[in-house]
Amino acid sequence: MKTVREDNGLPEKKPLSLLSITDRIPLANSQQRKAALAEVGTAGELEKVLTWTKNLIQGIHQAGYPELLTAKDLKELDDIEKQAPRQQGMIDDLAPDQVSDLIRVNKRLQLEMLERDLVEEQVSRKSKLLEAINQVLNQMVANRSEHSLAGTCLRAGRELTGSPFGFIVENQEGCWRVLAMASDAGRLGPCSAEALSGFPMNNFWRELMQISQAQAFPAPGAHPLWRPLPEEYPEIRTLLVVPLPVKAGVPGFIALANNPQGYAFIDQSDVQTLALSFVEALQRLRAEQAKQISERRLHLALDSAEEGLWDYLVQSHEIFYSPRWFTLLGYQAGELPSSFETWTTLTHPDDVSLLKNTIQTATRSGEEAFKIEIRMLAQEGQWRWIQVRGRAVERDTQGVALRLVGTLIDISRYKHVETALQKANEELQRLAALDDLTQIANRRRFDERLNDEWRRARRDGAPLGLIIADIDYFKAYNDTYGHVRGDEILYAVAQAISATLKRPMDMVARYGGEEFAILLPNTDLLGAAQVAQEIRSAVHELMIKHRASKAGEFVTLSFGVASLLPEGVAPAKSIVERADCALYRAKAMGRDRIVAPGMGEGEGLRCSL
Ligand code: GH3
Ligand code: MG
Ligand code: MG
Repeated sequence: MKTVREDNGLPEKKPLSLLSITDRIPLANSQQRKAALAEVGTAGELEKVLTWTKNLIQGIHQAGYPELLTAKDLKELDDIEKQAPRQQGMIDDLAPDQVSDLIRVNKRLQLEMLERDLVEEQVSRKSKLLEAINQVLNQMVANRSEHSLAGTCLRAGRELTGSPFGFIVENQEGCWRVLAMASDAGRLGPCSAEALSGFPMNNFWRELMQISQAQAFPAPGAHPLWRPLPEEYPEIRTLLVVPLPVKAGVPGFIALANNPQGYAFIDQSDVQTLALSFVEALQRLRAEQAKQISERRLHLALDSAEEGLWDYLVQSHEIFYSPRWFTLLGYQAGELPSSFETWTTLTHPDDVSLLKNTIQTATRSGEEAFKIEIRMLAQEGQWRWIQVRGRAVERDTQGVALRLVGTLIDISRYKHVETALQKANEELQRLAALDDLTQIANRRRFDERLNDEWRRARRDGAPLGLIIADIDYFKAYNDTYGHVRGDEILYAVAQAISATLKRPMDMVARYGGEEFAILLPNTDLLGAAQVAQEIRSAVHELMIKHRASKAGEFVTLSFGVASLLPEGVAPAKSIVERADCALYRAKAMGRDRIVAPGMGEGEGLRCSL
């Protein structure tokens, strides 16, 4: 109970009365004041009131509060004093209403004082409790150990309840452990390793845990289930046990002991409040520690895997890069600002939109993990191929991502290998489609292209042109000049045909021994015949001597030309047959000519140079 009050400045404007005087009494007199008033209230002895009042006045003067009494008040008090002896004899004759007036005033004074003391005590206690809770929370914010958190809570509990001894026990995986212990006796050091090992859980404590309510024991030794604690604990004379809140899922209790006055209801409720804050702080601390451990593990795993980590908070645009994110590209960890802009700035201009779009798409609901490859600028100024993986790890109720997490990995080495492999494959394919001798497409490639173009022409309703050209009297050429020279002529003619074709979609292939097929997509008969004519001229211009030819003095070609609009189920080979047929006629008509069925035959198609 608080006996010293420190607020001397009470309301000034109150009319001066016994009440207002007692309110201004110097603090040390508060007990005297109470005692005197108590007597007045019960015995009704007026002279005691007067003596006490006189003492009050002296006290007020001594304490330096003379201004509190006006001249009128002093005179009144003087008059009372003078009348006192007279009244002393008359005390029993006082009118009953005067006596009851005095008693009423006295009672009111007592009540007011009690009320004030009570309020003061409550205020001081609540502020202590708040301070204790603050300390516990500060420990949590400072991310201290569990033991220091428990120790702080315990010290606060001891101070609140005036207990010289206390401990906090928790069940950890089936084992009852003392989280913190504090004693004034000095026998037990706070939180010593031995003290923390195990707690002798017996039926007394078990029953308390089951009841799960705060309980005070004025003499715990009298309880039928009580067993004294081991030697290292002080003897328990009074006890307050507050179980940790059940819903928090942390089974345990706070025990405070040996307040000589025992424990009041307010002690129970204060320690309960404290227990609630403690458990909340403990849980947060543990969750934080678990998170830190898992993050440390993740960093470790990622660093050893040569991967950089990024962690993007979508709404605030905050982004975290792990040290490896930077060192991967040759930068110092944290050398560049942790912003999404840093990422886009380092990304190759051609890959920025891929990166941005991918991140944006990943935030949408339902999107799964992603993997892209972008080029990023390394510290030494070179572009490195980086594989970016990521996925949403937190989403709002609509499924929109709040947080994306992912990795970066340098795949430049693999990328170079991949590019080289891709080139090699392309070359292989080209070679596979190429005729060795003439270095133009081979028959296989021609057949593929013909089928493709046939389908395309049918779909587009466009004409497809085809020329089949055959060297005249080539057997005779070989016989005259030899096969090697013959091969050279095949090459020269193939290149001449190839050089004549202007449109990228046109193609020439070696169709047979000394036969060439020229595929002309989107070309009608007239157009195809014109191309044939250009080829014929080009070969003429080569002026390759052919003295065994009956068609002229140089190497010449005969041409069969066709152009069809593919319809219905007609197969691609139908155009080949048509061109072949025309070629046959060209040969039959004397060679070195172009035959295009449908355009008229004979001399008209024998194009002159
Ligand atoms: P035509 O005017 O009727 O076309 O008479 P031709 O002799 O050109 O036709 P034929 O079909 O009778 O003979 C084709 C010749 O082409 C046979 C062969 O000696 C020659 N030939 C085919 N392939 C090659 C080749 O790869 N190299 C060489 N040097 N000659 C080839
Ligand atoms: Mg032939
Ligand atoms: Mg021939």
